[in-house]
Amino acid sequence: MVSRIQVAVDAPQHAGMGDVLDYESEHVLAPGTLVLVPLGRRVVPGVVWDESPASEGDAALHELRPVHEALQSLPPLPASWCALVAFAARYYQRSLGELALAVLPPELRKLDDAGLLKRLRKLEKQLGVAPVDDAPKAKRRRKSEAAEPLGERAVTPAAPPAPQRPALTPEQAQVLGVLLPTCTGQAAPACHLLHGVTGSGKTEVYLRAAEAALDAGRQALVLVPEINLTPQLEARFAQRFPGRRMVSLHSGLTPVQRLANWLAAHLGHADLVLGTRLAIFCPLPRLGLIVVDEEHDPSYKQQDGARYSARDLAVYRGKQDGATVLLGSATPSLESWQHAQTGRYQRLTMAERVGQGALPMVRVIDMREQPKPPAGHEVPPLSPPLLAAVQQRIASGEQSLLFLNRRGFAPVLTCGACGWKSGCPHCSAWRVFHKLDRTLRCHHCGYTERVPKACPDCGNLDIQPLGRGTERLEEQVATMLQGVERPGGGSARVARIDADTTRLKGTLEQQLAAVHDGDVDVLVGTQMVTKGHDFRRVTLVAAVNPDSALFTADFRAPERLFATLMQAAGRAGRDAEAAERSEMYVQTWNPGHAIFAALSSQDFASFAQSQLREREMAGLPPFSHLALLRCEAREASVAEAFLRAARDLARGLLSEPHEAEVMFYAPVPPHVAKVAGFERRQMLVEAASRAALQRLLAQWSPLLPSLRGGHKGLARWAIDVDPLGI
Ligand code: ADP
Ligand code: ZN
Ligand code: ZN
Repeated sequence: MVSRIQVAVDAPQHAGMGDVLDYESEHVLAPGTLVLVPLGRRVVPGVVWDESPASEGDAALHELRPVHEALQSLPPLPASWCALVAFAARYYQRSLGELALAVLPPELRKLDDAGLLKRLRKLEKQLGVAPVDDAPKAKRRRKSEAAEPLGERAVTPAAPPAPQRPALTPEQAQVLGVLLPTCTGQAAPACHLLHGVTGSGKTEVYLRAAEAALDAGRQALVLVPEINLTPQLEARFAQRFPGRRMVSLHSGLTPVQRLANWLAAHLGHADLVLGTRLAIFCPLPRLGLIVVDEEHDPSYKQQDGARYSARDLAVYRGKQDGATVLLGSATPSLESWQHAQTGRYQRLTMAERVGQGALPMVRVIDMREQPKPPAGHEVPPLSPPLLAAVQQRIASGEQSLLFLNRRGFAPVLTCGACGWKSGCPHCSAWRVFHKLDRTLRCHHCGYTERVPKACPDCGNLDIQPLGRGTERLEEQVATMLQGVERPGGGSARVARIDADTTRLKGTLEQQLAAVHDGDVDVLVGTQMVTKGHDFRRVTLVAAVNPDSALFTADFRAPERLFATLMQAAGRAGRDAEAAERSEMYVQTWNPGHAIFAALSSQDFASFAQSQLREREMAGLPPFSHLALLRCEAREASVAEAFLRAARDLARGLLSEPHEAEVMFYAPVPPHVAKVAGFERRQMLVEAASRAALQRLLAQWSPLLPSLRGGHKGLARWAIDVDPLGI
């Protein structure tokens, strides 16, 4: 019998036609089955969907095109996966098929059933598990066939030695007393916010929670904000769970490895999945726990395509799948903090560092009071008190970490004679001077040129760097420390870690190892070095120039800076024995700023309270809900006209009594208005309730394509729901 099925495909939406299309099939195909279907002249991958809007024009069955092939060797994606994808597509205003296909491993989208079957057989062999279709045979397999490492860190079931578990601190024990029953199914699943200061042992809590979930026969998903943090976390989990199968999912894997890991999770062979934001869409049939480490981190929000928040989707998914959600941070996002205040999330607190180590003493250096450099000279990067503190660490064989959130040598080159600056011809931004390869590089569009020998405008040979990035800081610090001896002899060693020094695979690991091994005395770096690393010998951390973050238009800037500084502070004094000597220096021209007082007292709760009060008065999230309509065009006027037309359209949709529920702001240029030759403009949409905003967006976004015709030259537009920066 021939039947009609609905398939989600990644097709550009046509007016009146969704991206869930009807096909005919000779077999009944379960929802979630992967299929290949004809679309125009191509054959494209799709997912059989059950929940879909009724298709336009009830085409007779014989008019439908047949499914090309069903990938029946793969068990259908579970209903909970389909529900998550449908929710995310609806909430973030993307088409269902686009999102469904985008969150599958790219390699999977290329395979037919025969190709997939090959991969599955290979995987089963690697994992030493029974084939899905062939279970009895597997039991007769010889042992030697089994167990071949999968990816970087597969753990095969053997008879492992029992891992060492530390005795819990009283705070950990208390937290776990609440948490564990919700991971095993003894108590109802819940969403917990673990507020634990850096070094309070949050990872141990994650490990114990995962252990409980695994022991109850369930799977655990652990999300981290950055790929860089996966290796060390993987190592800790692998050590703790030698008998369990663990896979990682992030964009740094080869496509083949990523598919294999995804399959291991989907088939239920992997007990633990560790990954970055994209892992939130990994199908997990026995999901019992989702951990979101550093839940405040902006990297959980995807910044192009479907702009989803993996943190927020984790909360949705937990509810949907009956899994416990554990959001952990030393500086929770104000959204999560507010949810904990209102009782929507359960707050768990760990205020003490393990081993009684204190958080470092914070010293705010008033740069206005430092000695003035001679005329024509720059202010040196390290003030006298900070320099003295670094020298003292070197003398006692301890390490210092100098943090500056700007890479490259200098943010701009300039000509003193005519005022020329190294602007990017395609963007409204300066090109950064990178000294090592003597290039000017645009960090927005990538446009790179050799540094000119002379000023392009006036021919002056003396063009100068203005300002300072990590590359220059490293050089200047090395100069300032020349002749400073280490206790064992030899001069102080300065190293740098940032996106430029770690471009090649494996270099970050090498550089981190050098720091851990004590081969570095002073480490210079961007935010990359402040995240998560457990440096045992660092007793001094300094924020060299955090001020730029104080004066941006973004209402989240103070929250972000506070989180970054607290996290940086957390790198110092992790060794209990050195904790009391550990210090954090902050160099600022604005020592009176409230953020530094909050940092000095390391009191997140009162900082959060004052920020929330300000947000409430200003009607900002979490007390309102935002969306941005962004667009790009060669001409600014086209972009602005499109946004105004979109606004008029939206206002027409708001009938009484809902008129006042949603507010529209004027179109404005974002922080960097022109990128790669396109003018960017954005319009903020604000509503007091999430439901009102969602109601409007659902009506509005399908109508936007109809505006395109009236705005020739419009390149693209997108809606960003819950934008991070405005
Ligand atoms: P956080 O993630 O909260 O910053 P970590 O989980 O990195 O803190 O823990 C800090 C240090 O304390 C780590 O070296 C960890 O191994 C150690 N640690 C954690 N819990 C315990 C415990 N119960 N007993 C002894 N050491 C612990
Ligand atoms: Zn010049
Ligand atoms: Zn550019």
